[in-house]
Amino acid sequence: MQRAASDPPQLLRSKFFWVALLYFSEGFPLGVFYELFPVYFRQQGVELKDIGLISLLGLAWTVKFLWAPAIDHYRHHRLWMAAMDVAMAAVLIGFAATQGFGPFVWVAIGAFTALSATNDIAIDGYTIELLDRRELGLANGIRIGFYRVGMLAAGLVLVLSDWIDWPAYERHGGTWAIQTKRGCPMPCSYCTYPVIEGRRLRCRPASEVVDEIEEAVRRLAPRTIDVIDSTFNVPLDHALGICREIVRRRLRLSLTTMGVNPLQVTPELFEWMERAGFNSMMITPEAASPAMLESLRRGA
Ligand code: SF4
Repeated sequence: MQRAASDPPQLLRSKFFWVALLYFSEGFPLGVFYELFPVYFRQQGVELKDIGLISLLGLAWTVKFLWAPAIDHYRHHRLWMAAMDVAMAAVLIGFAATQGFGPFVWVAIGAFTALSATNDIAIDGYTIELLDRRELGLANGIRIGFYRVGMLAAGLVLVLSDWIDWPAYERHGGTWAIQTKRGCPMPCSYCTYPVIEGRRLRCRPASEVVDEIEEAVRRLAPRTIDVIDSTFNVPLDHALGICREIVRRRLRLSLTTMGVNPLQVTPELFEWMERAGFNSMMITPEAASPAMLESLRRGA
């Protein structure tokens, strides 16, 4: 029989293909937990006893039978799978954006393993409903095989990450980018920052910002710290507070920033920036004509 043009390819119509894919995605988080996390934490200088304790969070996969009946009772296994995958991705993104080894890491990894275990329950339930009894034998072989492939794939990520020569970035002038706040309240008509970050300013405490700088210097010794705020000197007090904190701690830094707005520039700001270690900055005037500046609402 001829296949209609709108029909999906044979492979996508095969139940076994979807079983393979689902069990690959079931094994992959386990590989991330057991293969990637320990190596990553060791590279970050985390103590072996802490790494060992973190492995206890893997118990979620062992005790998932405790909440499996609830998931199966509510059914909607595909919805569960989609929700768990999105939630796991969100946890990993949050995890990647966080420095240090604080309580957040424990919570994030605990949530990751619990979500992964719940995903496993949903995948198992969905697969059983998908398959006919006579298909179970072959499907079981595929499930086990691709589950292992998923775990091994996480190890492959580790191999790939080793191909990148990270120390070369440090040898040739590594830069540590840091953002001290989010948001920009200025009305420049062409700029996407207020859309991306919002107009409301959310400033990090100066001590927290300088803690991060100190840690980056201790671990990586970057040549330059780049303050990548949309506009470093808005608000002025926040910029001054960070400069004063750096000076108070007697840090010897090479700092730069990509944005200084002329509206809130004062002699005092430049004096403190210089004392803190700023040796360059990026200023984008956009236009020199008052009419253009007014139409762009630049610095209005
Ligand atoms: S001050 Fe800078 S970041 Fe803020 S809206 Fe204007 S161009 Fe964008």
